[in-house]
Amino acid sequence: MVIQICARCQRPTGRPVVVAIGYGASAGGGVVYACPGECAAGFPKQRDPFEQTSPARDVPVRGQR
Ligand SMILES: [Zn+2]
Repeated sequence: MVIQICARCQRPTGRPVVVAIGYGASAGGGVVYACPGECAAGFPKQRDPFEQTSPARDVPVRGQR
């Protein structure tokens, strides 16, 4: 079990939920965790970064109109 700091309430949690993957240098980069329940629910849902079964489908259809 890994203790992570919740990005929302800043408390350590033994069951961290990945709510975002840091990209760039913001917040030091890396994975953003939150405790399960309210905190995790407070973050916008992203595609599960650990379930990229088909990267080719990961391209949103955008700017084509
Ligand atoms: Zn929390």
